[in-house]
Amino acid sequence: MDNFEFHNHTKILFGKGQVSSLKNELPAYGNRVLLVYGSGSIKKSGLYDKVIRELKEIDATVIELAGVEPNPRLTTVNKGINLIRENQLDFILAVGGGSVIDSAKAIAAGVPYDGDVWDIITSKAKAPSNSVPIGTVLTIAGTGSEMNGNSVITDWDTNTKAFFNSNHVLPRFSILDPELTFSVPRDQTVYGSVDIMAHVFEQYFHASSNAPLQERIGEAILSTVIETAPKLVNELNNYEYREVMLLNGTLALNGLTVMGVNPDWATHLIEHAVSAVHDIPHGGGIAIIAPHWMEHVASVRPEKVAQLGVRVFGLDKAGKTDAELAAETIQSLREFWKSIGAPTKLSDYGIDDKEIELMTERAMLAEQIGNYVPLTKEDVRKILRNSL
Ligand code: NAP
Repeated sequence: MDNFEFHNHTKILFGKGQVSSLKNELPAYGNRVLLVYGSGSIKKSGLYDKVIRELKEIDATVIELAGVEPNPRLTTVNKGINLIRENQLDFILAVGGGSVIDSAKAIAAGVPYDGDVWDIITSKAKAPSNSVPIGTVLTIAGTGSEMNGNSVITDWDTNTKAFFNSNHVLPRFSILDPELTFSVPRDQTVYGSVDIMAHVFEQYFHASSNAPLQERIGEAILSTVIETAPKLVNELNNYEYREVMLLNGTLALNGLTVMGVNPDWATHLIEHAVSAVHDIPHGGGIAIIAPHWMEHVASVRPEKVAQLGVRVFGLDKAGKTDAELAAETIQSLREFWKSIGAPTKLSDYGIDDKEIELMTERAMLAEQIGNYVPLTKEDVRKILRNSL
């Protein structure tokens, strides 16, 4: 294992009715609140009213930032920064999915920063330690943003999706009530399941030695998603399936499986390039790109892909080479994602080869792309072409 530090201070309040904990958690941070949410699902589900009732109970002053986009935008982050500065707010309450929570984190870091928040999002500057504290009420399982320090934001003017990570923007608390995810539609439920699996893959295909426990934890998360997602997509209001997926999403990206290993975020970086140019759902893009990325990995280092197939997809390894097993693993993954209704090609979203060069350029903005298997520009272009 590599040397590592682990610090995660997010308090998780998990289970039915936990929204009523808001009035207990909030006063520690002041009572002037920026309430951040998306394009209306929380109003339809009645969650907005519940949150407002909680805020009224503690006499909070509430300013709202509504309309955060899926694949949230820099312009919205800047609006939030201005609202906090103008109204002298103490706290950010993010009610929604990864997009809402990621925006809250970028706002939190941008408020005390003198320069352009894009410097922080592109990791040119560090998030200040006096970032505005945030709390979340999660409404969709998938990104793990509720218990990590990551934030992914798009500058639509330059078609650039970038991310930063800082412990200073870790949520102080996150409320996870499975009932709040009942209204997540089937397609978004599928995208969340795919995203959770991709987070595990990217930490599983690490460039470090001797991490058997981390790998076994990742395999347990993958097996649980494979057991649960097919039942969940056919029974969206099942509390037990929803609670399992919610916890899966949180544990897949809260630092647990990345301790002491050097992960490989290539799939996410390529997907970010696609959704920064075409604005498609993140999990849908991942479902299309990950198998092609894994094929490339298998062509260079098939052994870990083979291990994944044997341990997670139950492949029989007798008499097979790693390369043969790796090919079967990728086939099993494709069949599984297809069976729950995930998209399989970029043309499912009407994307053709016109922007391949732009997407390739955007994916290559990171210092290095790929870690377990480093990718060249040509490799990325090929993965994108194969995904069409
Ligand atoms: P999302 O973009 O937050 O939400 C997707 C859609 O689902 C929105 O239309 C949203 O509607 C709707 N929705 C959410 N909860 C709902 C509910 N309970 N009922 C009905 N509809 C609901 O989805 P996400 O997958 O959680 O976040 C994706 C973003 O996170 C991407 O930008 C991705 O790059 C990023 N990401 C972040 C991390 C991280 O570690 N921070 C990791 C992976 C990906 P409303 O707009 O009305 O809420």
